[in-house]
Amino acid sequence: MTTDSPAPRAPYDPDNIFARILRGEIPAHRVYEDEATLAFMDVMPQGEGHTLVIPKAPARGLLDADPASLAALMASVQRVARAVKAAFAADGLTIFQYNEPAGGQTVFHLHVHIVPRRDGVPLKRHEGGMADPALLAQHAARIRAALEAGEG
Ligand code: 5GP
Repeated sequence: MTTDSPAPRAPYDPDNIFARILRGEIPAHRVYEDEATLAFMDVMPQGEGHTLVIPKAPARGLLDADPASLAALMASVQRVARAVKAAFAADGLTIFQYNEPAGGQTVFHLHVHIVPRRDGVPLKRHEGGMADPALLAQHAARIRAALEAGEG
């Protein structure tokens, strides 16, 4: 290998936690699904209403994703973000996406974070603690209701 060769990329692991959520092997508080994407609540929210949107097509991160899958993902991010903003009467949104451990990624299936924000309220720590499942269920219901009301 020469010094200018790219570092070998880790392969996609089909048993990562989000792949298992997609297959229905482990539960998630789902808020939106279409043929190409799924959205559900983050179990360790950095703010009330923290939602994740993932493509159904396997991809480790942004760099190995198929462009058509990325286009579908971003369309769902916009739709879910509008509903999240309405459901939580948020002043704004923080939307982010990490790639590889050095970039802060901990689950290796591409995902986009959507966190509703309030003026002057800081983001909580990444993976700071598990939320009460009953509260996550309530929050998911609020977002689904906003989508059904046409807020997406
Ligand atoms: P990353 O650092 O990879 O961008 O973030 C992964 C996110 O997934 C974290 O915010 C973490 O709280 C969330 N997460 C980790 N495990 C689970 C899980 O089993 N279910 C759900 N819904 N979220 C998870």
